[in-house]
Amino acid sequence: MRNTLINNCIINNLEFAQKHQQIADNFAPISLDRLAQTLALTAENAPLASINFTITGDTKRFRQPSLHLRINSRLPVICQRCLEEMFVDIALKFDYLLSNSQAENYEDNDEIDWLEINAEMDVRELIEDELLLALPIAPVHEAGCSKHSMQSGEKPNPFAVLKSLKRLK
Ligand SMILES: [Zn+2]
Repeated sequence: MRNTLINNCIINNLEFAQKHQQIADNFAPISLDRLAQTLALTAENAPLASINFTITGDTKRFRQPSLHLRINSRLPVICQRCLEEMFVDIALKFDYLLSNSQAENYEDNDEIDWLEINAEMDVRELIEDELLLALPIAPVHEAGCSKHSMQSGEKPNPFAVLKSLKRLK
């Protein structure tokens, strides 16, 4: 399995912003414990699952230190209609202001988030938190389910149910 683990993704976030630094990298979802628990990762689909990200430090855009994070991920989940595995593509973009107090000027701005100044901020943990919030609660196939799909009133395919139960162990 391709597994580009970043063991060292800890940044001094203020310095990172002030120096306009950037990290662009990727890692395997299985390396994030909390996220991996909520996904339907198997030996077969894990190599196809991915998290790509770019984090950029800046001081100019908001005239104060800020971080900009882009995440492009492909994560395996269980379709809640047919109980088959499926992938969701989640692309996210965040602007964070670095401040130890909530930035007043941006209080009412939903587009801008806020992070505490932290000399040892774990970028992977931030990405994990954002993906956990963004994961759909009840994902379903967009273009209709496979042959196992249920008609209204039909019971779930017992083999599909069994399969998803096995995965929980
Ligand atoms: Zn489905």
